[in-house]
Amino acid sequence: MKKRLFACFLVLLLILLTACSSQAVKNVEKDGKKFIGISMPTKSSERWVNDGQNMVKLFKAKGYQTDLQYAEDVIENQAAQIENMITKGVDVLVIAPIDGRAGLTNVIERAHKLGIKVISYDRLIQNSKYIDYYVTFDNFKVGVLQGQYIEEKLQLKKGKGPFNLEIFAGSPDDNNAYMFFDGAMSVLKPYIDSGQLVVKSGQTKFNQGATLRWDGAVAQARMDNLLSAHYSNDHVDAVLSPYDGISIGVISSLKGVGYGTKNKPMPVITGQDAELASIKSIIKGEQTQTVFKDTRKLAEKAVEMTDALLKGEKVEVNDTKSYDNGEKIVPAYLLKPISVDKTNYQSVLVDSGYYTEEQLGQ
Ligand code: BGC
Repeated sequence: MKKRLFACFLVLLLILLTACSSQAVKNVEKDGKKFIGISMPTKSSERWVNDGQNMVKLFKAKGYQTDLQYAEDVIENQAAQIENMITKGVDVLVIAPIDGRAGLTNVIERAHKLGIKVISYDRLIQNSKYIDYYVTFDNFKVGVLQGQYIEEKLQLKKGKGPFNLEIFAGSPDDNNAYMFFDGAMSVLKPYIDSGQLVVKSGQTKFNQGATLRWDGAVAQARMDNLLSAHYSNDHVDAVLSPYDGISIGVISSLKGVGYGTKNKPMPVITGQDAELASIKSIIKGEQTQTVFKDTRKLAEKAVEMTDALLKGEKVEVNDTKSYDNGEKIVPAYLLKPISVDKTNYQSVLVDSGYYTEEQLGQ
């Protein structure tokens, strides 16, 4: 009996201590200010680092507290970090998921039950009713810009060809990857069907070109295989790449078999994100194009949305039909992506202060 009483006492004590300590965390962290949890996928790509820093700066300027976490592309880390933010007492969660399809459903439901609003940032969180808003770029348009760049550079509209094309796609766990692919293929597929573009590997489906976690090394290995299997006596004229990290991997592979010389020029290679390494590569004449998505504007929009939500004001959206996450159509605000190459990087990236001349080594 005594033992039982003592055990009950211990359990009660434990509950009390846990409650006190989580309350303490809450108070320390909140400091009387509204508190925003920002969950980003990884630091391995520059853009997410900028996204996070920009949001923290803007939230702070508006008087909010923030907790910024990177999950290094491990789904379980991201769920645990969000769980922790909930415990600390955040008022809003801004999340760019690693895997939009799974892993966060439970934690988001918990957030919702506690009255915490959730904004999906850049990538759509799927299969959850509790996503309040989505802020992103026009993802289909990103792909269209990449496809149109190849179309223009190879003068396909003028009937030139046939040219050899190989196709890379993004990560299959990221809804954006499908939109980029569909956008690009809406331009390129008619040329593949007519024979003006030839995909010698025959790999024209999303799954055949997909690159898990957008990993440049995975893309490089695939390109090595494609080159040795299909191009020992032939030239690759264009590579559809959805992301700069993938483009850099593809370029390494091409250089490894002698591309980038007078007799073996680099193919037209697209990209996305205007990462520093890729802009330098464009200036050098290796990568050809990228799609710039101004992360400063995306961060600004996310902060604006959060601020409106917390003040009970109307949240501005400009798309209420494109982003069905399987449970609901998530009201979204889409920003405009811009195609960048050697001819306009100066005006788009340097004049706008996104990069300095020094950073580009000019
Ligand atoms: C983003 C892209 C990025 C890619 C890899 C996508 O969800 O929209 O900007 O290139 O993830 O990080």
